[in-house]
Amino acid sequence: MDLSTLSTLHAVFLELQEKPDWRAALDALFVSLRGSFVFDNVAIYLEDPRTKGLDVVYARAVGRGKTAEADAAWGQSLANEVILKGKMILREPTPVTGKTGRLGLAHLLAIPMYVGSKLNSALVFIRFGGPEYSELHMEIASLQAFWAAALIERRDLQQARSELNSVQRQMRLQDDFVSTISHELRTPLGFIKGYSTSLLREDTVWDIATQREFLTIIDEEADRLTRLIEDMLESARLQSKTLQFKFSPIRIDALVRDVAMRINVHHPDLQITFDFQPLPPIRGDGTRLSQVFENLFSNAIKYAPKSPIAIYMRPVGNKIRVTFSDQGEGIPQDYLPFVFERFYRVPGERTVTGTGLGLYICKQIIMAHHGNIWVESVVGEGSTFIIELPVEPMH
Ligand code: ADP
Repeated sequence: MDLSTLSTLHAVFLELQEKPDWRAALDALFVSLRGSFVFDNVAIYLEDPRTKGLDVVYARAVGRGKTAEADAAWGQSLANEVILKGKMILREPTPVTGKTGRLGLAHLLAIPMYVGSKLNSALVFIRFGGPEYSELHMEIASLQAFWAAALIERRDLQQARSELNSVQRQMRLQDDFVSTISHELRTPLGFIKGYSTSLLREDTVWDIATQREFLTIIDEEADRLTRLIEDMLESARLQSKTLQFKFSPIRIDALVRDVAMRINVHHPDLQITFDFQPLPPIRGDGTRLSQVFENLFSNAIKYAPKSPIAIYMRPVGNKIRVTFSDQGEGIPQDYLPFVFERFYRVPGERTVTGTGLGLYICKQIIMAHHGNIWVESVVGEGSTFIIELPVEPMH
């Protein structure tokens, strides 16, 4: 290898170091060396530790001939062979069926790669037409394989790190949850205990109206406890995928109107407007879908007090799109990606009680319907929850 090749390599490696994304780094690795080493397609094959089959983890077409991903199968058998033998294979030129001229002459070069200290991967180049691969080409290709293996390891490391971060966040949320839930359980219990003790006092006689008032509070607080416990059980069942769904044809517009009517019984001042286009029925679990909308209403009442609620429904392609908007304080952008996570509550001043389970439950229910739910929000203007449910019958 001469000095000018070395300095080219040096420049390329310096460039790679700064690429945060492994794919972009691989692109740079192959493209910037094309001056010294010409090829048409390149692919990296990596053994799946579970199935032992080879997956294409990277493919790129830089030259003429084929498109990268669609045809990445071209190197598969050679990659297998290289991993088996543990050494470079040069195959010149194999005739390609159906192709004539230059494209009929495929020069293949495959190099074994060690990812995570295991011989489990291969880098394969293809070039259509001459010249043949020289000694220098092979040296460059080996260096590229070595560097590519390091980049794939970097990818694995990044994936592992992001999984770890998400587990750590989940654990932190779980810790917060224990303190939230003990507070949430204690508050209604405190009311129930306080008012029943008062009613039982032998030194005091309560008039009928006061007795009723105390009993109503006890009744409402007991309901709140029940809801809380149901939410916890439900979220645990959803998490472990043991919640059973009963699907039947549902008119989602009628379902939402029903839920709204029930909400209005308890909150007569809540203004709800509907704007529905004619919609086909969907297959769904009515009880669970009602629960989703009950949660959205209850959040709007908690986090956007006094705000009117507007509900739109439209068919969009083969889906029904429901938007549920309030004009409350909204949710800051930074927190939006997390609100559907289990136990997550937007940090900040906590005057409103909650467990962080409501939206998690909504999302799991919608996903069980093969639908999608997300939120858009502008601070100071309000929040809009969007739900899409497929119209197609589900199996
Ligand atoms: P909880 O209400 O028990 O805290 P949720 O999962 O229902 O849990 O909601 C998660 C978080 O999302 C809430 O803590 C709240 O900060 C935010 N949020 C939900 N709905 C709204 C809304 N309509 N307006 C503003 N913030 C909301």
